[in-house]
Amino acid sequence: MYDISKCYQAKDAADAVRALMEDETAIVISGGTDVLIQVREGKLAGASLISVHGLPELTGIRMDEDGTLVIGAAETFSHITNHPLIQTYAPVLGEAVDTVGGPQIRNMGTIGGNVCNGVTSADSASTLMTFDAVLELFGPEGVRLVPVRDFYLSAKKTVRRQNEILLSVQIPKSEYEGYTGKYIKYGKRNAMEIATLGCAVRVKLSPDHTALEDLRIGFGVAGPVPMRCTETEAAAKGRKLDESLINEIGKGVLAEVHPRSSWRATKEFRLQLVEELVKRAFREAVEKGGGSFDA
Ligand SMILES: Cc1cc2nc3c(=O)[nH]c(=O)nc-3n(C[C@H](O)[C@H](O)[C@H](O)COP(=O)(O)OP(=O)(O)OC[C@H]3O[C@@H](n4cnc5c(N)ncnc54)[C@H](O)[C@@H]3O)c2cc1C
Repeated sequence: MYDISKCYQAKDAADAVRALMEDETAIVISGGTDVLIQVREGKLAGASLISVHGLPELTGIRMDEDGTLVIGAAETFSHITNHPLIQTYAPVLGEAVDTVGGPQIRNMGTIGGNVCNGVTSADSASTLMTFDAVLELFGPEGVRLVPVRDFYLSAKKTVRRQNEILLSVQIPKSEYEGYTGKYIKYGKRNAMEIATLGCAVRVKLSPDHTALEDLRIGFGVAGPVPMRCTETEAAAKGRKLDESLINEIGKGVLAEVHPRSSWRATKEFRLQLVEELVKRAFREAVEKGGGSFDA
């Protein structure tokens, strides 16, 4: 039994914002895989819901003329993973969202819901951080663009206002061109498991594949919100590829993360995962880019 006071299907994005303004207690629902669980658990009992499911402004994956990859907020994980543009230009994002839940969840859950729920374990979030993705929010004053790095305030709190909806997630061409990446999720089992730790690494190698031109490291569950390790990234840029670099990156990130203990894992275990997963993801990202650590 779902205790819902009202559920309104918006006609378009403007109608959704209008409905949210009319009812300040209303909550956006998209795929419902987070919201309906919370209604059922009683945390959102009696909720007034505004559905953005299937709205044209929130659907579709396209490339704009300037090469920006635009992913509609209501796009499901399975659609994202299987979309040719994602497979060609941002395969690591497709891989990351393919680790979410099981097939049913991936057919219903959306990237917009995953970002907007504000949780650190969201499997798309750490990868989007490494892309410096931009979020297109739409509210009463129109559209505002918010870098994903400025979106998260604290656990489950974001800068999105109650009367705003997320229209799309945008990845500029400069953020995907020439990079390869790897996302590793550690969970107690392979399916239907929220991440104990998630780690995304993306690299851009020198033309001869022997040095690191750029490095991006994103973590989920290594702190209250999805995060980047910018100091480790900066220290590694321009370095020659060798085994010592892998170890330095592994140690470097430990100084930047601040995981905590939870029923899933202790802080100490998460720190071990942080070091190990970043090393593995870095190695794989480099190898995908044609680099090696043999020299
Ligand atoms: C069994 C199960 C397993 C799961 N496994 C995983 C997992 O492995 N990894 C993982 O990351 N998540 C997991 N989840 C959580 C969930 O599936 C994802 O977070 C999913 O992305 C939520 O998307 P949704 O469209 O269903 O969001 P909804 O439930 O519709 O909404 C989630 C939140 O986002 C807001 N919202 C949604 N769309 C918009 C929008 N366009 N604009 C503004 N606000 C919006 C809602 O108000 C709500 O706060 C799991 C859930 C279940 C039930």
